[in-house]
This record gives sequence, C-alpha cells and structure tokens, in this order.
Amino acid sequence: MVRLVTFDAGAGPRTGVLNDDATRVRDASELLPAGAGVLEVVEQWDAVRGRLAELRGREIEVDSVRLLAPIPVPRRNVFCVGKNYAEHSLEFSRSGYDASGEGVDLPTRPIVFTKAPSSVTGPFDVVETHQGLTSELDYEAELGVVIGTGGRGIDRAHAYDHVWGYTIVNDVTARDLQRDHKQWFLGKSLDTFCPCGPAIVTSDEITPADVPGLEVECRVNGELRQKAPVADLIFDVPTLIETISAGITLQPGDIIATGTPAGVGIGFSPPRFLAAGDVVEVTISRLGAIRNEFR
Ligand code: MG
Repeated sequence: MVRLVTFDAGAGPRTGVLNDDATRVRDASELLPAGAGVLEVVEQWDAVRGRLAELRGREIEVDSVRLLAPIPVPRRNVFCVGKNYAEHSLEFSRSGYDASGEGVDLPTRPIVFTKAPSSVTGPFDVVETHQGLTSELDYEAELGVVIGTGGRGIDRAHAYDHVWGYTIVNDVTARDLQRDHKQWFLGKSLDTFCPCGPAIVTSDEITPADVPGLEVECRVNGELRQKAPVADLIFDVPTLIETISAGITLQPGDIIATGTPAGVGIGFSPPRFLAAGDVVEVTISRLGAIRNEFR
C-alpha cells in the first residue's frame, strides 16, 4: 500500500509517503523527477511505483510538518455528485434548500457538479467562513476517488481499472448561495471549501470489493453527525465513472467526490449551520481523517 501525501517541512511542498499509522512521513521527492508532485506520480505511476517501494531514509514526524492536500492544485475542477445517498437526498429535498427541482424523488441519473481547483485546501487547514457572503455554512463528508489512467467512454465493467486511489473530501457548502443562485457551483467553490486528504491511498490496497465497506463519518466539535457505508451510494463508483466519462475525457489526477450521507446541517430542523470556531472532522475507514477549523 502507498499513502501519498504532499507535505511542507518548511522548504516548500514535497511529495511523501505516509507510514501505516499515519504518524510519520518519508520524503520521496529525491526519487522523482525534479519538481514532480503527486499529480506527476499519478501520471507516471508505472515508472514510479517500483522506486517508491524502495523508498528508505529518514522518517519525519507528521506532527512536525504541514500536510497539504495530496494534490494541492488539481488541474481542473473537482467532479462532485449531489444527492447520492437516499437518506441525504430526502433530507435535502425536505430542507427547502434544494433548487434543483427534483421534488422529493430520488435522482434517476447522477447529479454532477464541480468545485473550482482554488477551493482545495489541506486536511488540517482553516476553512474560511466568508463572513458577509454566507451565513449558512454546511459540511458534507465524502469519499474521493482519484483517477489514474484517463479515458472517455469507460464502461462500468472497466471503471475500477481507471481508479488510482482514494482520499477524503469535505464538500463544504454555503447553503444560502446554493439555494439563492439556483445552482451548486458558487456555493460550493468558495476558497478553502474543499479540504482534502490526508493522503491518497492507492487502489492496490483498497480493492473494488473493499470500497462498499468503507465507512464515512463526520463529527462537528466531536459530535457524530454523519455515518454510512459507501455501499449506501445510490450510484456506485463504476456508475459515476461511466456517467462522467461518457462524453468528458477523464484525466489522471481527476478527483470525483462521490456524495454525502444524511446528517448534514440542513438535515436538522432547525438547520444546524457551522459557525466560526467549529471543528469538522471527516473520517473514512482505512483512509484516515481530516480535521478543519472554520474561521
Ligand atoms: Mg457533496
């Protein structure tokens, strides 16, 4: 298994490999072409994977470095899927914040939107509250799928051949912007609204058979708000890859955030929005955890 990270120990971003309990990191930059980041590792995986397996050298305590998003600046927007867990789809419809006109029915086709690359931030970084622009901040814990080999017209049966690894995404959302502008881009793409990480765990360790069993959890100030297995997805990972790639060529390093389970802030009555000082932790079994303070 390889857990790829991007970290900064004071000398700028480096590519590293996290140990199994995520306490220490080894600098892999020396083994890679000059300036290569995780994105280049994904692109050149066949040439690089053997070298990473031989990685030796000093281990650095994770606590002494800053972890950045594994892919700090994606080449293009993060693909996202809306209303992809049944219970969440219903809570969203009931909330009055859903301007997508779907009523209370479950989606019959995947709802795909995107977040701007500039929304991506590190797994332990501060998420800006954008005071004055939004007062209805919400969290969405999600499994992120990272594409390895790209392609167009990828069918379900071959979809997992195109998955390079998995990561954790918090699809932070300004619900007032989402509702008032009647689309999902603005309210989900504000700067720092896509915390990601802490690592990308490669798909040689997490097999297609393992994916449905991954447990997605979200805690706000320690209180459990969301908890569901990936098996509860309405449209599974192969369906999402098939749908998106039908007419859009997927590229190495593309990220697909697969949707969030029930228990978001607008699922409560009255809604429980985030406030400055709140800390949101998203955990996925075998992928670790990300933890972001809102400020
Ligand atoms: Mg989402």
